[in-house]
Amino acid sequence: MYRLNDKVKNLVPYDAVAGDYKVRLDANESFVDPGEFFKEEIAKAVGKVPLNRYPDPTSLKLRKAFSKIYGVKEALVVAGNGSDELITVILGAFLQSGDRLATLTPDFSMYGFYGETYERKTIEIEKREDLSIDVDQLIAELKEADPQVFIFSNPCSPTSLCLKKEEVDRIIKSTSALVVLDEAYMEFSDQSLLSEVENYDNLLILKTCSKAWGLAALRLGFALSNKRIVDAINSVRSPYNVNAMTQAIGELILSHPAYIEGAKKKIIESRENLYTSLLPLEQKGISLSDGTKVPVKRVVKSETNFVLVEFHDANWAKKVYEKLLKHDIIVRILGNFLRITAGTKDENQELKKAL
Ligand SMILES: *Cc1c(COP(=O)(O)O)cnc(C)c1O
Repeated sequence: MYRLNDKVKNLVPYDAVAGDYKVRLDANESFVDPGEFFKEEIAKAVGKVPLNRYPDPTSLKLRKAFSKIYGVKEALVVAGNGSDELITVILGAFLQSGDRLATLTPDFSMYGFYGETYERKTIEIEKREDLSIDVDQLIAELKEADPQVFIFSNPCSPTSLCLKKEEVDRIIKSTSALVVLDEAYMEFSDQSLLSEVENYDNLLILKTCSKAWGLAALRLGFALSNKRIVDAINSVRSPYNVNAMTQAIGELILSHPAYIEGAKKKIIESRENLYTSLLPLEQKGISLSDGTKVPVKRVVKSETNFVLVEFHDANWAKKVYEKLLKHDIIVRILGNFLRITAGTKDENQELKKAL
């Protein structure tokens, strides 16, 4: 008999923000739109796509362009319909009934969400109060919990902090679990293990084109690992997972490394500017329209494309969030935190004015 089973009944959809706001700083997208630089080339590339044919099931040209930039053999790269799809495929493939998934908290909320939809036991390992990772503690807890998969982001969303690669190396070598290392924001830091991925037998790295590359609309991500794991992913993913238009545009943009270098520089500059303008709030607090002063606990020094602002409780965070909404500015609220994406000069300025 058909029924909405308990796991589905209790799920709530990811509250991605829809609707129009004058200033959108909620989703960590890039404010640089490659569509503006490559308008004609994109039209040409898309125009050549035979719409009646299935796309290349292996996304070969796209993977070639990726491997050229990041220095990883194309045979060790799998393309996906955003890293989100790849996460579902990987967790589906590497966890079976009774298995355990380990995550950190706070970290990207979708990891636990997918674990739950597969009915896998999710173990959340807490970070320190200052949001950093106690690596020795983590290694001990992984030993104790003995999960089949451990997934985390580095640099992390939402903390914006980045673990040194020597520390990540230590974690990977300490566990027999498959370590899924989500490097979605690594363009904004410098601790990537991408070029060394092949040297591990239990490491899988995720990359996305949604952040530094400014291609969130395309839905394009990559998974990288050793041959054995890559073969396994290829055998479980759906055959035409990346559509032909995404392949064509992705290949085009990924063939312009100078573009990404320029975009990265602009974004990092904006992040620094945003951090510098928010930092004084730690001393001054934020005034609401009724005259109340909201104290700011901490503005976190970021290695991503956003800045995290911490409040003493969720109620204060909500008050400031609502104040920003009144100014037609949307940011992301996560409990005691507001996560604010680095925007254009004007957007950062509007935010600063509103606060
Ligand atoms: C944004 C983000 C992703 C991106 O996923 P896509 O599905 O490729 O857009 C993955 N991981 C983290 C931690 C992110 O913040």
